[in-house]
Amino acid sequence: MLKLIRNAQAFAPESRGVCDILIADQRILRIDQDISISGDDVEVIDANEQIVVPGFVDSLVHISGGGGEGGFTTRTPELEFHDAVRAGVTTLVGALGTDSTTRSLHELHGKARALSEQGLSCYHYTGSYQVPAPTISGSIRDDMVFIDAVIGVGEIAIADHRGSQPSAAELARIASDVTVGGLLTGKKGVISIHVGEQAEQLDLLHEVASGFPVSLDRFYPTHINRQQGLLQAGIAFAKQGGVIDFTTSTTEQLLQMGEIRASHALAISLKAGVPPDNVTMSSDAQGSLPHFDEHGKLQSLEIGRIDSLLNELKLAVHTEEIELPLALATITRNPADALGLSHKGRLQAGCDADLLFMDEDLTLNSVIAKGAWVFKDREHLTTSIFER
Ligand code: ZN
Repeated sequence: MLKLIRNAQAFAPESRGVCDILIADQRILRIDQDISISGDDVEVIDANEQIVVPGFVDSLVHISGGGGEGGFTTRTPELEFHDAVRAGVTTLVGALGTDSTTRSLHELHGKARALSEQGLSCYHYTGSYQVPAPTISGSIRDDMVFIDAVIGVGEIAIADHRGSQPSAAELARIASDVTVGGLLTGKKGVISIHVGEQAEQLDLLHEVASGFPVSLDRFYPTHINRQQGLLQAGIAFAKQGGVIDFTTSTTEQLLQMGEIRASHALAISLKAGVPPDNVTMSSDAQGSLPHFDEHGKLQSLEIGRIDSLLNELKLAVHTEEIELPLALATITRNPADALGLSHKGRLQAGCDADLLFMDEDLTLNSVIAKGAWVFKDREHLTTSIFER
């Protein structure tokens, strides 16, 4: 089955002007001015000069739930397929977090398979905050080799009281496992790093890169917008060739306590001279966002939301006045490249046909994932098996 999209104002994420996009099955076949093709097997769609962009790539989602740091009642629920779709996320990477005791990689893998069956492209990390990393098959390397969906390890926690306080040698060994796992499979092999609020910030990553044969871009540190000091450390890291990630889920209280909105952190980084390709945003959806009272006592919890990615894109463009291609790259091509998924996050011949249709003000109207409609004219096209 072919789909021909006419009159798309395309951002690939770079601006392509008004053009046509031809999709064959799950892939983009061609992007060009005035593609002509006809026949019974061609679905012709007039985009009517809507903005068409690549489906978003969210590099960190607690797809099978997370949280639990305030007792068992604070465990957060799983991600719903429909929430991802109406947020424009077509590719995502699942992760465990603090809790790899009552939550497991087996459960995470099952959820990733379910989201993939429903039409998304879902990958996941092996491991968790913990070192040694929990795995499915016994080692990080084996998980990467034997499980297609496993593209790396993480979120491994550093500079955080909830982490295992790994040494540089321990982290270097993990890097070597991931590197060899990548070599054997053609995957890039990435280490997602959860950076906490302790003063060491990114020191451990620099220590590993200077003392062992591990390059900075093996690490993919997130939550870099947690506070001003960490943001500055992140800017230095990115200028040395690393890729940094900002978390889009936040609360008013976290912002008052010094967190910097992802869109604003992006503007600061670009002004500071960070290479635009070296910065990404992710939602951290389904993670828990705690509210504390003035005595530090837990008052309530909110849950990270996957639609925060789209909200921060809008803020980046409308409030921070960052050009759309630059802002868009941080949630499409840049994370795809950081994860080693070069067939994702761009509108390009040969790449997967994951496309979003948006109004001028970036309101999301429709979504095609792997060549199939999953959201059209703001209506969901699929129901889960329990809703039927
Ligand atoms: Zn984290």
